[in-house]
Amino acid sequence: MESERNKIEHPGNSESQTQQKILESSKVLIPEWAYTFHGHKCPYMPLGYRAGLYAMKLLKIDREKDHKTLIYSEMSEKDLNGCFNDGLQAATGCTYGKGLLNLLGYGKLALILYRKDKGAVRVHVRDEIMDELSSRATEFFSLRKSGKEPSEIPDEFIDPIINDWMPSLSDEQMFEYKFIKDFHPIPAKKSGVKKKCDQCHEYVYEIDLVPSEGKLICKPDYYNVDENHPVKF
Ligand SMILES: [Zn+2]
Ligand SMILES: [Zn+2]
Repeated sequence: MESERNKIEHPGNSESQTQQKILESSKVLIPEWAYTFHGHKCPYMPLGYRAGLYAMKLLKIDREKDHKTLIYSEMSEKDLNGCFNDGLQAATGCTYGKGLLNLLGYGKLALILYRKDKGAVRVHVRDEIMDELSSRATEFFSLRKSGKEPSEIPDEFIDPIINDWMPSLSDEQMFEYKFIKDFHPIPAKKSGVKKKCDQCHEYVYEIDLVPSEGKLICKPDYYNVDENHPVKF
């Protein structure tokens, strides 16, 4: 009834215009705040955003408010294009700070999204998409190689990629996926208990204290870390 009335009230709506509208509305647009959070315009943040959103759609879950969902990004800390991981976090709410973003270090543009009651799905960026991105964003990438930061690159070299090409692709065109049966997440060790270091007397999370001659000492004191040369434990 409702749709029929709409048709009568808008006689100008031809079949193809309606079809076009449906296509437009199904385009996935990256919210402006995600770019603000990330800091610049680039192809990898929106790619991660789309991948995260698609994984949520496949698991039929909403954006994570608290701590139920986990992401295992297959990228490593050594890989360039970690912008992908910012997109994943923005889309899913599985943030580093909440302890929900883990990097597996495989060096692949893929993620596993997991929630205990929904299972796990792996979403992988199709290799053909990466090849096409390279050829479409030649100027952007060559400017990056020559040392320009993304925010210094003129909009004309990135806007067509993120505003036209990417939204024109369906999730199925961009990604391949696989549900993982019997997925075992890596157990998280978390400590909320703080104690004072017996040497510097600063508060330290208990799990990070090191026992030494009957005392509990923070790692910088125990290993004599030079503050000019921070060490990652
Ligand atoms: Zn970026
Ligand atoms: Zn200390």
